[in-house]
Amino acid sequence: MEQYSNYQEQVLDACKKLVDRGILKATGGNISARVLGEDKIAITPSNKDYTSIAPEDICILDYDGNQLAGKYLPSIEHGFHMEIYKNRMDVGGIVHTHQPYATIFSLINSSVPALFDEQVFHLGENIALVKYAASGTDKLAENIVDSIRNGNNAYILENHGALLLGGTVDEAALNSMVVEKTAQAYVGALGTDKKVWKLPADSVQMFADMMKERQANYRKTHSEAYKN
Ligand code: 13P
Ligand code: ZN
Repeated sequence: MEQYSNYQEQVLDACKKLVDRGILKATGGNISARVLGEDKIAITPSNKDYTSIAPEDICILDYDGNQLAGKYLPSIEHGFHMEIYKNRMDVGGIVHTHQPYATIFSLINSSVPALFDEQVFHLGENIALVKYAASGTDKLAENIVDSIRNGNNAYILENHGALLLGGTVDEAALNSMVVEKTAQAYVGALGTDKKVWKLPADSVQMFADMMKERQANYRKTHSEAYKN
């Protein structure tokens, strides 16, 4: 399965980077990459310490759920990862985490509005909530598919964690850091007795348009890969 080693390395590199940054902890979360031009994904194995696995342990699955590589069981969330790739052709990488600050918003039933330029540039107009359903269920995949129709790159899973999308795995990993910085600052601001100022509407529009343009390019690249 040499042909998938590049994807396996990309996924494991992102895991290690996010463990180093404190975004991934213990065995929580999962990361995947779209295999270009094929109905397949590379995804982390279930319940494994990311610092103790090798690139060849990253699972390769086809859209029917057949496992083509990796000796461990795939992440229990492989269903929602696949549904995202099917429904959002701009997405090339997915990072799901239980990162501390973003997860606070999963507990207080609050989305995160547009607060910073770079937040909107990377993540979109807001960080919306995805309705709760138990981990690994079809219902969670269904709720996620409903939410990602807004075209953004960051979501909060109620009573669970965060979900980041990107044109590549590296981009999705970067987005997990952007969401954490944003959430940390917002938690701090909400804890004061002062008014929290949102980003002006014209800036939201400008940076959201830049994100949409980037996504359109990825959509084209990912669609054209099927023609080669
Ligand atoms: P996996 O280890 O099976 O990927 O599950 C971790 C998780 O975060 C479930 O939501
Ligand atoms: Zn989880």
